Amino acid sequence: MQKNTTNELVARRFKVMGQHSPIFYEQPLHLIRGEGVWLYDKQGRQYLDVYNNVPHVGHCHPHVVEALYKQASQLNIHSRYLNDNVVTYLERLTATFDKSLSMAMLTCTGSEANELALRMARYATGAQGVIVTDFAYHGNTESVAEIGTGFMPEAKRTKRVKAFSIPDSYRGLAGVEHEDLAEAYGAQVQQAIDEFEEQGIKVAAILVCPDFANEGLLTVPKGFLEKAVAKVRKAGGLFIADEVQAGFARTGKHMWAHQAYDVIPDIVTLGKPMGNGHPLAGVVARPDLVESFSAQAMYFNTFSSTPVSSAVGMAVLDVLTNENLQENAVSTERYVLNGLKRLQGKFDLIGDVRSLGMFFALELVLDQKTKQPAIYQAKRLINIMREKGVLISTIGVNDSILKLRPPMPFNEAHADLLLDTLAASFEQLNREGH
Ligand code: PMP
Repeated sequence: MQKNTTNELVARRFKVMGQHSPIFYEQPLHLIRGEGVWLYDKQGRQYLDVYNNVPHVGHCHPHVVEALYKQASQLNIHSRYLNDNVVTYLERLTATFDKSLSMAMLTCTGSEANELALRMARYATGAQGVIVTDFAYHGNTESVAEIGTGFMPEAKRTKRVKAFSIPDSYRGLAGVEHEDLAEAYGAQVQQAIDEFEEQGIKVAAILVCPDFANEGLLTVPKGFLEKAVAKVRKAGGLFIADEVQAGFARTGKHMWAHQAYDVIPDIVTLGKPMGNGHPLAGVVARPDLVESFSAQAMYFNTFSSTPVSSAVGMAVLDVLTNENLQENAVSTERYVLNGLKRLQGKFDLIGDVRSLGMFFALELVLDQKTKQPAIYQAKRLINIMREKGVLISTIGVNDSILKLRPPMPFNEAHADLLLDTLAASFEQLNREGH
């Protein structure tokens, strides 16, 4: 009976949202409630959420819900009036960045933040060219989709976009020694700049996620990003760090993922975890960039910079501090990583294990030497895990990398359940003959 309700909802969804609106799992999940790291379906079944980073401080966190409710009951208004919340939030937010990144503008989505960052960079430099990885996703607006090389055939790339190979220490580049990888990937960035120049196009920016998360949570060759940014800056371009996935202490050691590198961005874009599910995103940038852009282009965004969004944003920062979630990411990372390494010793399918704070990647391969991606197995595993009550997904060029990215309150007890379920799922996959 209840299963029928779910099947009916799937049919109604296809009818009203189209056949191609993305939906997770062979058996879609019909969710009705969330709390902390747990999700509950229509049938009352509990799932451990090891996927969602948007409910950053936990699903439906009471402090965030209360802040939203209180402010929504009192006042919500756009940003052309004075309001304490907005200013205080942006002061608190920018205080977590390097001193040079002291101004911020809010948006409602990560895509809008990247759109604004691109406009800002193009206004400031007078240039058009943007350099990204060759498997990039940064959002869904027209000019951001234009730099989304991951979902676009190379032949469709516009003249304003050039890409370098994903900087991947595990797979590397054919014919290049491991210790020369940073130099070799850097040379590709230089090549992009040179090709732009040959076509009479100047470079406005290099735009990358400092975790290279959609690319597969890569282990970046040491020194690569610093070299790449130096080359772009020499050519007159800026460095835009897309922290939409990577930010807000996800990496544990740092509040912002770019802080792990020896280079400070000119513009940083934020989103997903920022409002714990409330549509809150934005740009943090050098003041000269914000001022010169704003002087030339009136920027207004009706639903951003509101008292409610700011109250929510502040509540997220409160919980991060009050519940020591950054420290939790560091200690839980160690624990999970050890467990994943043990699994790697047991299952040949696991080619590489990577982590950055509360974010883990298991790269699955059919052969440890050839590193042929285990595409079918990755897809099958996330469905087996879902059947067993643990939610994960895949990333990377071939969707052959398991993506484990739970809400930040994920702890060692949750990790034990994850690790046991992973082991049982790999065993089931073996029994199925894959
Ligand atoms: N940047 C990155 C790195 C992302 O992963 C995403 C979303 N997956 C975006 C930007 C776009 O954010 P939004 O969906 O909020 O527009």
